[in-house]
Amino acid sequence: MPYSLERWLAGRWIAGPSMTDALERAVGINKRGISVLINYLGEDFTRKVDVDDSVETDLRLITEIRRSRLKGDISVKPTQIGLCISQKLFKENYVKIAEHAKMNGVFVWLDMEGPHDVERIIDTYLEVQKHITGGICIQSYLKRSMDDLKRIVKAGGIVRLVKGAYGFKKGEGMIEGRGLISLNYMEMMKYLFAESERFTIATHDRYIVEKAIMLNKTAHRKVTYAMLNGIENQYAKRLAARGESVALYLPFGTRWVGYSYRRMKEIGHIRLILHSLLKSQEL
Ligand SMILES: Cc1cc2nc3c(=O)[nH]c(=O)nc-3n(C[C@H](O)[C@H](O)[C@H](O)COP(=O)(O)OP(=O)(O)OC[C@H]3O[C@@H](n4cnc5c(N)ncnc54)[C@H](O)[C@@H]3O)c2cc1C
Repeated sequence: MPYSLERWLAGRWIAGPSMTDALERAVGINKRGISVLINYLGEDFTRKVDVDDSVETDLRLITEIRRSRLKGDISVKPTQIGLCISQKLFKENYVKIAEHAKMNGVFVWLDMEGPHDVERIIDTYLEVQKHITGGICIQSYLKRSMDDLKRIVKAGGIVRLVKGAYGFKKGEGMIEGRGLISLNYMEMMKYLFAESERFTIATHDRYIVEKAIMLNKTAHRKVTYAMLNGIENQYAKRLAARGESVALYLPFGTRWVGYSYRRMKEIGHIRLILHSLLKSQEL
């Protein structure tokens, strides 16, 4: 696919290169009664200078969210704030961001990344979660995830449930087949409804979202329905109009390639282009 076409597609999901782009877009999204999860793009950093830049940006972002009185959380990738260098550095930076967020009344999410990072991300989260205001993403495409989910919920953690977006090799503990991944998602979701007071159902799968809404008619949990910006914005808008708590994941920054390739892989290039051409995603 030509590079410029990739860039054009990326522009549908990403607020823009600067923090100001994200904050301005967030104001418009908030006006529709939808919250945001803002993410500064970047991952797999092995240079301390890139890690430091991300941490500084996240700290500024938190201050700006509070200053602008936005309805929004931030979402952070562990490999962006030090995990590729050491777990210790990741933990220090995560605590620094989370403490600043707590002081400013902002909620911090940890994104979940590839297969080799899962254990260390969960361990770090569990070590610090009692002292911070934060949640963690868990992926239903992993065989281990139901056990992880139980461990986190029992410890009082807050979960954002997704299907999973990273590539796996055989034997790395992945559930194979979309149907089985969705089935596991539903099982994990049922566990959340039974055992957790507050969680986020992060998917564009309307069957799952509608099922969750139905379950919550009797469960009365604090559920947020989260979607990636630019994929199902009109559906998100309708859910908010129905009175549901809805959030859009809104990335910004210049490092758009990794994020965008995961989106293209999810739907396939040709389907994605048709989807982008046919559906208006503006709010
Ligand atoms: C708020 C949020 C946060 C996330 N955080 C993480 C994370 O931290 N770690 C992680 O591994 N993954 C994360 N993901 C991505 C997630 O794992 C899935 O890859 C992604 O959501 C697609 O799966 P789905 O649940 O929408 O279901 P699918 O079965 O893949 O899709 C359901 C339907 O949604 C539509 N759709 C899905 N993807 C696209 C697309 N790219 N373009 C157009 N239409 C599409 C299609 O109509 C499709 O039929 C996150 C997703 C969301 C919504």
